Amino acid sequence: MIHNNQNQDCSILDILRSLFGFQAFRPNQEPIIKSILSGKDVFAVMPTGGGKSLCYQLPATVMHGTAVVISPLISLMKDQVDAAVENGITAAFMNSSMNADEVADVYRMLKYNKIKLLYIAPERFAMPHFLERLKAAAVSLFAIDEAHCISEWGHDFRPDYLGLSLITKMFPDVPVAAFTATATQKVQKDIINKIGLREPHIVRASFNRANLFYEVNPKSKLELQLLEFLKGHRGESGIIYRTTRDSVMETAGFLVSKGISAVPYHAGLSSEERNRNQEAFNRDEASVIVATIAFGMGIDKSNVRYVIHADLPKNIESYYQETGRAGRDGEPARCLLFFSRGDIPKIRYFIDQITDDGERSIAMGKLSQTVGYASHNVCRRKQLLGFFGEEYPDDNCSACDICSGSVEQVDITSDAQIVMSAMSGTHERFGMGHIIDIITGADTKRIRELRHNEIKAYSAGSHKDKKYWRFLGDELLAQDIIRQDGEQYPVLKLTQKGSDVLYGKEKVTALKREEIRKKIRQPEKGGPGQYDEALFERLRSVRKRIAEEHQVPPYIIFSDKTLHEMSGYFPLTFPEMRRISGVGDAKLERYGEDFIQEIKIYLDENPGIPVPATNSGNRPADFDYPDAGQASKKKNCSRQDKRKLYH
Ligand code: ADP
Ligand code: ZN
Repeated sequence: MIHNNQNQDCSILDILRSLFGFQAFRPNQEPIIKSILSGKDVFAVMPTGGGKSLCYQLPATVMHGTAVVISPLISLMKDQVDAAVENGITAAFMNSSMNADEVADVYRMLKYNKIKLLYIAPERFAMPHFLERLKAAAVSLFAIDEAHCISEWGHDFRPDYLGLSLITKMFPDVPVAAFTATATQKVQKDIINKIGLREPHIVRASFNRANLFYEVNPKSKLELQLLEFLKGHRGESGIIYRTTRDSVMETAGFLVSKGISAVPYHAGLSSEERNRNQEAFNRDEASVIVATIAFGMGIDKSNVRYVIHADLPKNIESYYQETGRAGRDGEPARCLLFFSRGDIPKIRYFIDQITDDGERSIAMGKLSQTVGYASHNVCRRKQLLGFFGEEYPDDNCSACDICSGSVEQVDITSDAQIVMSAMSGTHERFGMGHIIDIITGADTKRIRELRHNEIKAYSAGSHKDKKYWRFLGDELLAQDIIRQDGEQYPVLKLTQKGSDVLYGKEKVTALKREEIRKKIRQPEKGGPGQYDEALFERLRSVRKRIAEEHQVPPYIIFSDKTLHEMSGYFPLTFPEMRRISGVGDAKLERYGEDFIQEIKIYLDENPGIPVPATNSGNRPADFDYPDAGQASKKKNCSRQDKRKLYH
């Protein structure tokens, strides 16, 4: 049943280039594809955006028969089929939203071997009729997406998935490839057993998402902070996560009042409204979606340029998964967490409702991990990967706020000593407010009555304001140098670590953030690194128009990465356009002309822009940029001026 090509190595690379328009495989794609082509089962854990779909779509195009893809989300099937069809692959889906005629059509195509890819939901496997039809057809391979749904140990168990254990029994000669973005070793074993994979080729890819920039900002005036951030990301797609439905509505309303096209999403909205808002976001009609964690499962959008957590995430797993929705196209994207200690009690409140002692203490542990992520002076990437048992090898990832030097470590030992001296001078019987009053030398009735104006620490910190001391107090709490005791009237106590600092045996440092966020450098990720921003905007409009005509989301026509390359390399002929990543034969034929025309018009209107010589047969990556000085000054629109720098 499997059609083995003699020159497999070279031919799969040819197909990658001609069909998908990509120059090289992403990590792990090639061995997975080769395993499938040789009839071997595969089990692969790859992060979101790792390029899992290509791993089965490519073999599907060369093998005889139809590849059956099992995917749990009906909402995604249409987009996946559209994306395949855009690349010139014949594909169809079958799900409960279709009428009998539509289903009969698909069966016909299956029978006559007219489709290379068939997407179905797992519940089909419980239908004997479907299995008979499938048995009578030529099936090239089975691909199981979101394979962790078969495991009760995973976080998203779906009983329908258990029916998939029939596959290897009924189709003993057909390779089965199972994919997931999340599986511990235990879940992995469980998945392999449940599906019955036969000595599969196993891939556990690195969870590192090199194009994501992780940062944490102290949350103060959230709405203004969001506006400030969005100013630098006008028109780009982004997700803002909030904990409660009310805060979702509030933030979305605020952004709309400021002229930003934002839509809300939470489980309290009607399903129609949810679908409408998700669709508006998917199609770039709304640039921001403000959502609770109810949003995300049904989204495949590749051009999400930022994910903001405006409140503390539930735990690191969720944080990683939610931020993972940024930058699936491999282009730089930002993951920003606004952190405030004030959010901790809100989460703790929910944890306190958990009746099982064990579970409650696990939840508390997870909360402190999240707080640690936000407040430790350790590379964010190293922390995230460490959480998944992966050691990040480099000292400096250069793509998080800690490593990029936008936060600086400062010694706060002597200020910490002032706080602790006030605490110990008052026998550790007072709360933060009173301690700050003492050190700032406040003249309150309480201080006079208790004669706290006579202790050594009184007024010792009057050179700084209360806001600073509150920040410092929070920092000391975060670092477990002091702790709060007592429910109703919390008082501050020294910890062992605190005593060591007070008596000069240990030092304390804190992170100081620079106000100017622009200093953050984004890593270069292949591609041109630089592009003409104005042209990119125009190509985005072309993409949007075409997407509307075809009734598909814009990112399915071309990814942001592809448009960035076009806006950096100015392809003006078919062969030049063909060298842009993401432009395969089918898309070149269909859309090449539209985009070339737009680039030509743009260059005509801006004659000062020097275009690199491109007919030398070089690939875009070899193009060189002329100096800014070479650009004509005439129109004040040299590429150097307009090109958006990637760092
Ligand atoms: P996953 O399902 O693993 O989250 P996708 O299959 O959606 O990831 O792929 C993410 C993005 O990466 C898509 O836009 C896809 O076209 C792109 N992609 C996949 N493989 C490659 C490759 N070899 N080179 C460049 N881009 C790729
Ligand atoms: Zn880092």
